[in-house]
Amino acid sequence: MSQCLSTRSIDHVVLERGDVANSWRTERWDSLRLLTPNWQSRLPGFGYDGNDPDGFRTTPETIRFLTRYAEAISPPLQTHTRVTSLRPTDDGYQLATTEGEWRCKTVVLASGACNIARAPAFAGEVPRAIRTLTPMDYRNPEQLDEGGVLVVGASATGTQLADEIHRSGRPVTLSVGEHIRAPRVYRGKDIQWWMDKAGVLEERYDQIDDITRARRVPSFQLAGTPERITLDLNALTAHGVRLTGPLATVRDGKALFSGSLRNQCALSDLKLGRLLDTFDHWATENGLDGAVEPPHRLEPTAVEDAPPLSLDLSGGEIHTILWATGFRPDYSWLDVPVLDRKGLIRHDGGIVPSPGMYLMGMPFLRRRKSALIDGAGDDARDLSLHLDAYLAGATPS
Ligand SMILES: Cc1cc2nc3c(=O)[nH]c(=O)nc-3n(C[C@H](O)[C@H](O)[C@H](O)COP(=O)(O)OP(=O)(O)OC[C@H]3O[C@@H](n4cnc5c(N)ncnc54)[C@H](O)[C@@H]3O)c2cc1C
Repeated sequence: MSQCLSTRSIDHVVLERGDVANSWRTERWDSLRLLTPNWQSRLPGFGYDGNDPDGFRTTPETIRFLTRYAEAISPPLQTHTRVTSLRPTDDGYQLATTEGEWRCKTVVLASGACNIARAPAFAGEVPRAIRTLTPMDYRNPEQLDEGGVLVVGASATGTQLADEIHRSGRPVTLSVGEHIRAPRVYRGKDIQWWMDKAGVLEERYDQIDDITRARRVPSFQLAGTPERITLDLNALTAHGVRLTGPLATVRDGKALFSGSLRNQCALSDLKLGRLLDTFDHWATENGLDGAVEPPHRLEPTAVEDAPPLSLDLSGGEIHTILWATGFRPDYSWLDVPVLDRKGLIRHDGGIVPSPGMYLMGMPFLRRRKSALIDGAGDDARDLSLHLDAYLAGATPS
């Protein structure tokens, strides 16, 4: 956004509570690699120039990448400045920060979609002897006690951490709710190549039937490993991870699971089939069938006949629970009445119903790719155009 504002000669400042790439410096586990290939982190005026376009950046490499971008565009950046309150004034906004006050006509909220790890309301019912942690606290398996681990949530974070923890010798039970299954490689090409080329990531928020639902869809079950492995539930069970249905509650020292595991997996397999159909259709329409490998389908997700419906948390089998149940933004510092009942900012493609206020970096903000690094550029171009017109006093379209 700063790059787009500079291109339009709009005077601005970027306030950051930490250093550039703060979330990557402070909130990621050690082994994390991007699940988007190197070529797919295109920022305005800055693409991938290395010799491994199909590789997946480690966290230190991601920090270096974002730092290099900041050096290249040299934004008016004030780091180590936490915004502690933001409130409307007669002609704009007033911000209190740890480094003093600011006034501005317009403001772009780019404080991230994943500031706080979610845990279910019943998390407080877990017996004290069990250690609970979130992906924000988790760094590596050595942090954990020996013994069994219950990982709750089977999207990108949950499947990656279940795999890593199980490989460390700690038996893992994975509680599976709604999830999106995806092969790493399909017909010889990376899944993100298909998503990008077939235009799936370009789908716009105003062309989707149920955008509220689309914004809540969990992340793909994907990992970015050098071996390009597919990390779906079949891969995990082949390694010995045990699956259960969604964790419904914790009561009297027991974790109680819903009996819907089979249905969750069948639905996910069905959606995967539809996604692959989209890719096949696109390949045929564009005359690419000869250029990629032939279509194929994945084995249905294997589910044991009677997955456990409860786990005794006092029995010594489980020592740790990891909540991989998603993330949410933190707006505790925002004193503008723009939050909905779920505590998320109301907006129309990033245009917030408060004059001159904009939002960036949220799932499906303007496009399906909006919450990816690769999605920031197009959203920033659109929203900076709107902001420019707002400052000029025009009615932005
Ligand atoms: C576990 C995980 C894995 C991911 N993997 C990928 C991937 O493989 N590929 C991909 O493209 N994307 C991935 N993403 C998404 C990626 O993080 C986002 O695309 C990107 O970080 C969005 O950037 P952002 O600047 O909007 O948000 P953030 O990176 O969250 O940055 C927000 C910034 O705002 C600062 N901030 C927050 N509150 C305040 C305040 N009150 N005052 C001052 N500063 C504040 C924070 O310190 C932070 O630096 C992943 C996200 C997570 C959580």
